[in-house]
Amino acid sequence: MPSPKDFQFDLPATDRPSPITLPEEWFPGVQNYWARCTSERSVGDHINGIVAVVIHATAGASSSGAVSVMNPAPGKPSASFHWLVPDEDEPQHGRLIWACAREKDAAWHVQNSKSHPAVNNGKTHVNHWSLGIEIVNRQSGGDSFSDWQVAATAQIVRYCYAKYPNLKHVISHARLDPQRRNDPGPNFPWDKFTQLVMGAQAPLSMLTKPKAVNGSALDQFKTASLADEEANFKIRENLHIKSLHK
Ligand SMILES: [Zn+2]
Repeated sequence: MPSPKDFQFDLPATDRPSPITLPEEWFPGVQNYWARCTSERSVGDHINGIVAVVIHATAGASSSGAVSVMNPAPGKPSASFHWLVPDEDEPQHGRLIWACAREKDAAWHVQNSKSHPAVNNGKTHVNHWSLGIEIVNRQSGGDSFSDWQVAATAQIVRYCYAKYPNLKHVISHARLDPQRRNDPGPNFPWDKFTQLVMGAQAPLSMLTKPKAVNGSALDQFKTASLADEEANFKIRENLHIKSLHK
């Protein structure tokens, strides 16, 4: 089985895809947390300054659990990421991607001291020249990634590939931080994902039928306050992305 610590591919400078629109929505209430969990990019131009996309998995079971790291208990460090791909157990699966931070801002998904010699000439402070994608996956008990999750993640990367002229590296978190991190984990089908990014892709809606879901349940979720979501969330301390902001 391939090791997530080796997950990397580089995008050709030419043959960029045409602009893509993502099926994304802001995670409910997430804007309230940007002030403490993102920062202004140190690069001058956030379009030209984006060089990498980092792929993570949450080691948790829900989108709300993942977003809770953006608003931790007082005194605890926060983390953040630009997009979140819901799990197959969630009503959003097959329907939408959660946007969680502004692309022009640096989210905090990789420790500042981490780097890899094959990624942007070994530069550190990855957050300042990358975008971060989290995929909801337990990373335990053989939890697999759904076809839609893999396709949605590839679609985000293609969106970035079309938009950011200097984007070159697509890498796992484990590649950058192999001592501490293994995400997105050995179950993530990196080769298939690479093919979806590099090849012409069918529209996301064609790839997996959305799970049948009660429309009012989806609306209810969207309008629920993040505080309510957090009240139901019990495993925040187990999330792998805690303590990244050091
Ligand atoms: Zn990660």
